[in-house]
Amino acid sequence: MEIKIDLFSDTGTRPSDEMRKFMAEAEVGDEQLLEDPSVNRLTSMAAKLLGKEEAIYLPSGLMANQISFAVHCNPGDEIIMDRSAHPIHYEAGATAVICGASIRRVNGVRGVFQTEQFLEAVRTKEYHDPQSRVLSIEQTSNLGGGTIWPLDLIERITEKAHSLGLNNHMDGARLFNAVAATGNTARQYAANFDSVWFDLSKGLGAPVGSVLAGSKDFIHQARYWKQRLGGAMRQAGIIAAGGIYALENNLERLKEDNKNAKLLAERLAEIPSVEIEPQDVETNIVIFKIKGKSSDSFAEKILQDGLRVSVLHDKLRAVTHLDVDRTDILKAVEIFKKHLN
Ligand SMILES: *Cc1c(COP(=O)(O)O)cnc(C)c1O
Repeated sequence: MEIKIDLFSDTGTRPSDEMRKFMAEAEVGDEQLLEDPSVNRLTSMAAKLLGKEEAIYLPSGLMANQISFAVHCNPGDEIIMDRSAHPIHYEAGATAVICGASIRRVNGVRGVFQTEQFLEAVRTKEYHDPQSRVLSIEQTSNLGGGTIWPLDLIERITEKAHSLGLNNHMDGARLFNAVAATGNTARQYAANFDSVWFDLSKGLGAPVGSVLAGSKDFIHQARYWKQRLGGAMRQAGIIAAGGIYALENNLERLKEDNKNAKLLAERLAEIPSVEIEPQDVETNIVIFKIKGKSSDSFAEKILQDGLRVSVLHDKLRAVTHLDVDRTDILKAVEIFKKHLN
């Protein structure tokens, strides 16, 4: 079956011809020796955007989460995050394997929890308790449906965490979708975080990688973990250049993805058998339910018409990105209607 409109994920974005050309011409060196000029340029751009001393280029976002936890935690420590968070569901148990910390789940609403809930989750300093070491938040929340953590909540909760001796970590896989939606800067969002990263291979449209930023000392320790996990590369500049191109050209256009997601949500809400709250759609992820139909078989049906979405148990998820435009969204709505009327 040919997929004509792919709303499965923003990871499906393909490098444009211009990006490919830019990558082909990238200056390269040995990244393990910190001698790759393109990697070095990308990391300094990212550090500046996030307002941190240094940054490190990594093959994936998963590795950015895991390296951060490994630097912050000892085995037996605890990381506080929402029950929907990526490391709980999609990292193949890596936190248990790599740093040996355990995860304390908070019952947030659409991926976001409040300061009081965080405070309830923090352990005492008594020796029989695991030690709370990290507060981890996801900006935007993936399984929450692209929810944005508001800046004032971030400021309050991260200050509390610091005052209690915890480190703050931001899984910013889609941080720039929040930036595009609110006009707050990445630097503002990242200010109180000891580790923060964003994905280059999602809405930003580069083929590979993420950039993790923090203090000089944090990045120094992160380098050991990158090496230890086999994440250190060689002439990585050729892929890092895709990231440079993305930061120079694709940040502003994330607004379009957010707008297209909103449009999709509003049109879906007009279909009686679709359950969705369009006001919940804040960025580029649309999660909805079809009344009285199995999400699996419905996803199969629309795939016959070339429309792909992902299945989340009883719900469906559609993600907008730079390979789908407004026309595609309107066509997608027609396909939904065809199967629901
Ligand atoms: C995609 C994603 C990751 C992992 O990033 P990869 O680049 O796929 O390894 C981590 N956290 C969130 C919230 C994500 O959406």
